[in-house]
Amino acid sequence: MERSKILQYCIDLFKNLPSVGPKTAERFVYFLLNNPKLLDELILVLSQVKEKITSCKYCNDFSETNPCHICSDEKRDRKLLCVVEKHADIYAIESSGYKGLYYILSPIISPLEGKMLKDVKIESLLTRIINVEKEMQPQEVIIALSFTTEGELTTNYIVEKLKEKIVNIKISRIAYGLPTGAEIEYADPKTLSFAIKNRISL
Ligand SMILES: [Zn+2]
Repeated sequence: MERSKILQYCIDLFKNLPSVGPKTAERFVYFLLNNPKLLDELILVLSQVKEKITSCKYCNDFSETNPCHICSDEKRDRKLLCVVEKHADIYAIESSGYKGLYYILSPIISPLEGKMLKDVKIESLLTRIINVEKEMQPQEVIIALSFTTEGELTTNYIVEKLKEKIVNIKISRIAYGLPTGAEIEYADPKTLSFAIKNRISL
């Protein structure tokens, strides 16, 4: 039996989402058709997300305000800039009690996904460090990328570039207590807190 073209198109769009295969996509679409109230709410909230959520000019995180609530918080320690890969990492590090600022560097080097050195937006990171208002300039960059091959490759690259382009800045990396292969997103608050306090100068 041939399916409606619109329905098929909708299922095909769902298949683009991470971890969603054809069967799951189909289940999602039929579930929504059977739950019109949820469908209405999703349509509404997705249009609001598109309209109101922007990327923070300082940290790249998605936010309803620009700068985001973390970057605009004057009580935070603006001398510290923690480089992470994704929003979930900020969420994890926040739970450790860290009170500095963040910078999301995405993508990181990932040969398997075809992301190489040239894909790392190093210029944007350098701009965030050097060409910002004086009160936003960090004195220390803390690299908190995951302890995976991708994270290691990217960390080495960032350190090399920072040392080449910027003098008088401290560069460190969270380390202690996080095993090789560990993803920041899944680390517990205590381990992360310890890893940040005992960060290693590079
Ligand atoms: Zn921000």
